[in-house]
Amino acid sequence: MASSKNKKVIKKNIKQATRHKSFLVVVLVYLVIAALMFGIIFLFGDKLVNKLNKNKEYGDIDFSVGLSMDVIDVGQGEAIFIDLPDGKCMLIDSGDRTSSTTKKFKDYIENKFKNRDKVLDYCMLTHPDQDHGGNMAWVFDYFEVKVAYRPNVFCSTVEPVIGSARDITDKIFFTEYVEKMLAEENCEIIINSVDCDDIVGENYKFTFYSPNKSKYTANNNYSPIMVLEYFGQKICLTGDAEELAEKEVLETIPACQVLSAGHHGSNSSTNDKFLNAIKPKYVLVSVGVGNRFGHPGDEFLKRVAACASVEKVLYTSEIGTISMFINEELAGKDIIYFAGMDPIKITIVSIYIGAYSILGGVFIINIFILNVSSKNKKRRKKS
Ligand SMILES: [Zn+2]
Repeated sequence: MASSKNKKVIKKNIKQATRHKSFLVVVLVYLVIAALMFGIIFLFGDKLVNKLNKNKEYGDIDFSVGLSMDVIDVGQGEAIFIDLPDGKCMLIDSGDRTSSTTKKFKDYIENKFKNRDKVLDYCMLTHPDQDHGGNMAWVFDYFEVKVAYRPNVFCSTVEPVIGSARDITDKIFFTEYVEKMLAEENCEIIINSVDCDDIVGENYKFTFYSPNKSKYTANNNYSPIMVLEYFGQKICLTGDAEELAEKEVLETIPACQVLSAGHHGSNSSTNDKFLNAIKPKYVLVSVGVGNRFGHPGDEFLKRVAACASVEKVLYTSEIGTISMFINEELAGKDIIYFAGMDPIKITIVSIYIGAYSILGGVFIINIFILNVSSKNKKRRKKS
């Protein structure tokens, strides 16, 4: 009796050991697959993401030749990056200096320049507010800047003030920006003004329509109102320009397909007359979710809703970075916009999450099958 009981215990132990072994084999196989998947996504994720994004909506458009503009998602603030068709590039503003915004902005720039020379052909600060200039000092650290466009505002602790221009010394970000800009070697510094020469390149032209005065009461109105034209398509950029600055350009500004709305969709900008002069099809708004300023304002929303030319109003708070693209083939037809493509990293993360969720699900099903089959074996033996 005792020996048959021992035999049963031994058999049971063998069965258990076999089950443990099968379990370990399954775990091992899944770990190997997971490691392989990680490697493949790590190596080819970028290409896969680009392909998926492109094919989804835009067919076979060649995005390597043309003009692209990103209104970068920097929460409450503004930063715009433009890749010009002749290989030059331009940054307008740099978002706020808060830990989360600085990270978002740096991630965008570092991702964009992962495999590129860290050269910025044109770097512009529109006006001396931190939600636009917060990361400008870092920009001068990261890039070799060739031409710096600056507002007609100075910092007397580090430079002479020209004429009766505004002198700001109590903003750390601005002092650091001016210091870095002055220290930048071989960098041409130009003050934003209607008198600035056009920036002209391969089939594109960048024109200043304001500021028309040398001094303003509100910082926001130092923001230049500018038009970037490429193959007849026009994009109007405004920084935080308000009604006063908008009035200055009513007689001169051309109609533009795209308007980057002033001052984050505040009621004090994008007035009716200005909207009617621009007649935009797309209105872009760089604005933070649940911001304390109540942007975009109710009046702004009413005005763009009432403007007959406006087809779409795009908010960074809703779709993240807003990307726009024009090339020769598309010119005259439409400006392609593709929202939320950046940061690409997020899309790669979603591929990781998706792949590992599927792998995890199959793993759990396998363990379940392993369990059921061993129980069935037991039952069969008992019967
Ligand atoms: Zn602002």
